[in-house]
Amino acid sequence: MKKATRLQDLKKTLQALRRSGKPVCLVPTMGFLHEGHLSLVRAARRKKGILVVSLYVNPLQFGPKEDYKHYPRNLARDARLLQNEGVDLLFAPGSKEMVRPGFSVRVTESDVSRLWCGAQRQGHFTGVLTVVSQLFHLIRPQTAYFGQKDFQQLFLIRKLAQELFYGVEIKGVKTVREADGLALSSRNVYLKKGERQQALVLVHGLAAVQEAYRQGEKRSAHLKKVFYRVAKGFPLAKLQYLGFASGETLKPVEVLKKGDVVLAATTVGKTRLIDNWIAGGAL
Ligand code: AMP
Repeated sequence: MKKATRLQDLKKTLQALRRSGKPVCLVPTMGFLHEGHLSLVRAARRKKGILVVSLYVNPLQFGPKEDYKHYPRNLARDARLLQNEGVDLLFAPGSKEMVRPGFSVRVTESDVSRLWCGAQRQGHFTGVLTVVSQLFHLIRPQTAYFGQKDFQQLFLIRKLAQELFYGVEIKGVKTVREADGLALSSRNVYLKKGERQQALVLVHGLAAVQEAYRQGEKRSAHLKKVFYRVAKGFPLAKLQYLGFASGETLKPVEVLKKGDVVLAATTVGKTRLIDNWIAGGAL
């Protein structure tokens, strides 16, 4: 596996790899890798192209009171895992490499990014879309892989790629969960002993919604009550939002249909967690 931390090394290494004529597949991450990230890497590897993973804790997507400084990092371990997965190139730039002094351009989506997580985290999606644009320009992948766990992010990146004509195919990969259903997240390491069980509020609430939907309840207001009934059993969890959204527009819907999405965010202690369920699908 080749490694690049500077833009000039990335350029040179990519140039050499591209001589194979294979397409470039990109998996962007913020590192501290878990099986969720690795499932994206494996999906990308099945393409048999040049497999590039970026590992960058993007300062632009953290709010001033968020956990940028404390975000978990372990580059040596991540590099070992990626090497074992047969990754061709690891791009792990320092933050000054991507955000130069005086950096002031932003890529903003002005509609859907105000909803759900965007309403809670001002500027978050602008930070995400700005760095993803940088990565798409630097790496020029044919295909890029993102997790469905971050459903709104995936939705906005698809929009970014389409509306700015990036010519990159965006693939969504199913959420990977722990045996008890908790969606894997680098932030799960923050959970203290008693909090770990309380974090199950999202998957238990969503599972109850899934069951009610399967039994014929499609009204968002009623499904919301189902979720909240379950959430009562998780007193340490403070729900930030519970959204019933169109799979096509991500705008709220009153009646849920197949392909729509139920989005949820909570804090448990100081840890913020998100999860979702795509109506008609598995959790
Ligand atoms: P992050 O490092 O948290 O920015 O995540 C990098 C990529 O991995 C994003 O596309 C996430 O959606 C994806 N991802 C994170 N957690 C999971 C998970 N549990 N299952 C599948 N994909 C995930």
